[in-house]
Amino acid sequence: MSEYIEKTMEWIKRTNPGQGVFVQAATEVLNSLEPLIKKESKYQKHAILERIVIPERTVIFRVTYTDDDGRPQVNNGYRVQFNSAVGPYKGGIRLHPSVDLGVLKFLGFEQIFKNSLTGVNIGGAKGGSTFDPKGKSEGEIMRFCQAFMSELYRHIGNTVDVPAGDIGVGAREIGYMFGQYKKLTGRFDGILTGKGLNWGGSLARTEATGYGLVYFTQNMLKRAGLGLEGKKCSISGSGNVAIYTVEKLYQVGALPITVSDSNGYVYDAEGIDLALLKELKEARRARLSEYVKFRPNAKYVSVSEYKEGRNGVWDVPCDGAFPCATQNELHLADIKTLYANGCRFVAEGANMPSTLDAINFMLAQKDFYFAPAKAANAGGVGTSGLEMMQNAGMTAWSFEKVDHRLHGIMNHIFELSYETSKEFGDEGNLVLGSNIAGFRKVADAMIDQGYV
Ligand code: NDP
Repeated sequence: MSEYIEKTMEWIKRTNPGQGVFVQAATEVLNSLEPLIKKESKYQKHAILERIVIPERTVIFRVTYTDDDGRPQVNNGYRVQFNSAVGPYKGGIRLHPSVDLGVLKFLGFEQIFKNSLTGVNIGGAKGGSTFDPKGKSEGEIMRFCQAFMSELYRHIGNTVDVPAGDIGVGAREIGYMFGQYKKLTGRFDGILTGKGLNWGGSLARTEATGYGLVYFTQNMLKRAGLGLEGKKCSISGSGNVAIYTVEKLYQVGALPITVSDSNGYVYDAEGIDLALLKELKEARRARLSEYVKFRPNAKYVSVSEYKEGRNGVWDVPCDGAFPCATQNELHLADIKTLYANGCRFVAEGANMPSTLDAINFMLAQKDFYFAPAKAANAGGVGTSGLEMMQNAGMTAWSFEKVDHRLHGIMNHIFELSYETSKEFGDEGNLVLGSNIAGFRKVADAMIDQGYV
């Protein structure tokens, strides 16, 4: 390990106490930069590693709204504006009780390199709140979103920072936040992506992350002389990314057989009923346990039945796995079970779903293919970039045009990551390829722009 990377890692660990997931994300990126750092002394000379691991700006604020009983409810709000070397800050807003500064720093840090890979000029950011939308009324969610935007509006702008959705934030929440921004500023700007189709949203944005994940996986398997047709695929999560991964998998002839939420997973050997999944999750916001009421041949397993320390969904034998729920949901024991059961590829829809030891296991298998999140799930933010372009041009493209551009973005990211892995002597290691390619563009822009 290069002394520069080692020293920087020690310093990151010392100066970010209690932020384990951020340290994990930094470790993954910095370790894979080794061959680049060895080859190019300029990154050390310009202190790029030290600079790139500190957000340019972090805003932490109070969010107070009144619940349906008229009582004040208080949450933490955050926006981490990590890096703007290649464009305005861009990254989602997450509403989940597990949100804290460490989680948002890990997500914002990953976002820098992911956004760089898309080829669209956007920087990296992430935001969110500890607010839990589950079990809240429509009115409470609206009042929370308005209160959140009442502070956030000062820090964003269509050439400054353009947030989007993430866990707990879909078109409904984006709508409430946009309405409040407009009320406070009197401006109709494209300051958020994932907007409603009638007021500046882009066709295919809803589908983009899941579709893009499958396009990337097709590229990866094709390079190995394989394909997705007829493959049994296990998916975790049942939100935006999972649903449109399932949809696209069907379109390319694969068979998605599982989905999950935080209470359990469904195994449907005949294939997940997509219309039912959308009805339950998008229309009714119901729990997944209801799925088996309508599909009696499917099996529902609740988390209380999971074996210790394991994520039950990965017990189902499959050809390939798509973790699409949350961070650290695929551990070493999970990947060993998947592998023993015949699984030969993992494509990450969620951000950092695999632990570092699980990744190392996957990279060490000669007959295994691993598509890391930063590259594989970049279709969502890439299409957000396309939404920004449409807003700037006061125009709206057809679904086919956006989907075609998305496909092009995913092909580009795969080629760039693959070719970079080859350039640095580890052909096919897409972790190394995507990290180096994403980093190099941002780091070189930072050097060009001086010490700011
Ligand atoms: P959603 O809120 O739409 O869905 C999240 C899904 O994951 C739900 O099924 C949820 O279950 C489950 N989940 C969330 N937290 C946990 C947990 N701690 N344990 C088990 N299950 C959990 O989010 P998205 O689909 O938008 O996002 C999923 C992942 O994809 C996240 O990592 C996100 O950062 C990433 N991502 C999303 C993009 C997008 O365009 N939406 C773009 C790129 C990455 P439950 O309902 O029970 O909480």
